[in-house]
Amino acid sequence: MKITEVITHPLRASISNAFYYSQGFYPAREAVLVELRTDEGLTGWGQCSGAPAAIPPAVAGVYAPLLQGRDPRDWQVLWHTLGGLRGGHYGVISGLEIALLDLAGKASGVPVSRLLGGAFRNRIKVYATGLYRLQRWESLDAWREGLVEEALGYKAEGFSATKVKIGFVPRQDVALVHALREALGPEMGLAVDANCAWDVATAVWVGRGIEGAEIAWYEEPLPPTDLEGYREVRRTVAIPVAGGESLAGLHPFREMIATRAVDVVQPDIIICGGFSAMARIQTLADAHHVRLVPHCWGTAVSLAASLHFLATIPDASPSITPTEPLLEYDRSENPLREDLLLTPLRQTGGYLPVPEAPGLGIELDPQALARYRVED
Ligand SMILES: [Mg+2]
Repeated sequence: MKITEVITHPLRASISNAFYYSQGFYPAREAVLVELRTDEGLTGWGQCSGAPAAIPPAVAGVYAPLLQGRDPRDWQVLWHTLGGLRGGHYGVISGLEIALLDLAGKASGVPVSRLLGGAFRNRIKVYATGLYRLQRWESLDAWREGLVEEALGYKAEGFSATKVKIGFVPRQDVALVHALREALGPEMGLAVDANCAWDVATAVWVGRGIEGAEIAWYEEPLPPTDLEGYREVRRTVAIPVAGGESLAGLHPFREMIATRAVDVVQPDIIICGGFSAMARIQTLADAHHVRLVPHCWGTAVSLAASLHFLATIPDASPSITPTEPLLEYDRSENPLREDLLLTPLRQTGGYLPVPEAPGLGIELDPQALARYRVED
């Protein structure tokens, strides 16, 4: 089997409720998918990450020629050919490697999880990421009431944990987190995510302010370039510290994990370098007894890829009460997550199924692709 065409699909979907996080504002959702076609009629799909306008030229000019005529079943070799260990545009390398595995699985008639060595489970526990600040909430009271209602909705749907966006005004954030904990009760997991908004002093002040709210983890209190700052927050605040969603390639993760900057490392399969990078980061995390909870905030394609990866990871630590892997499940408005598949991935009771059909096990809806496609 030979790869004959590498096609990029830049997508954009408007949303009805624009929302904020600490670094910006989302009036729409964007993504770039990549499609590999072969001489045997099979196609493979992946999702890239990075500035959408930069991806099609990088694929066409640099990466597609490396894959033309190659056999996708050589995906491990091709990951190195693309620069998986050496470096490059990891957002593109990730998407292409996911598409290679989709093809390799389809060619062998097995799901990607089996191609990677087998699945421990056929469903993955997910936590609900949401609790953003909506543009239409004009007062603090509306913000708090809206978030409490949304969080209670996740609890009613069966999620065992959720995550709230902070990083706005420290005093307001602390009050908001306590309001959420009070509304949710003691059992439901609650993580907080500042998206790199603060300096060490502010991160420590907020962290101490929410210590009593039983926080599952304190995500990206600082930019990931300040690992000494992360270590200081870890030493000072009695909440597990998390980060790593924007890191790519192996060496930034080695630095973060081996220097004990985080308790929870959060690689994203479409950012860090794909399945091969995820497996290596998992090994680093295992060797240092650091928990790995993948970041996932993309389309149905990156969601399916993340599900296959986590299916292959054993429960953490041999005990009679082991911890099963956990995946981020973005619940913010995103038609590119909900509408792209002919058979959508649906959570029940806080779990998503691992697709069982060959490859990624998903089928893209050509009409939805056409509807959201922007010209590159
Ligand atoms: Mg985050």
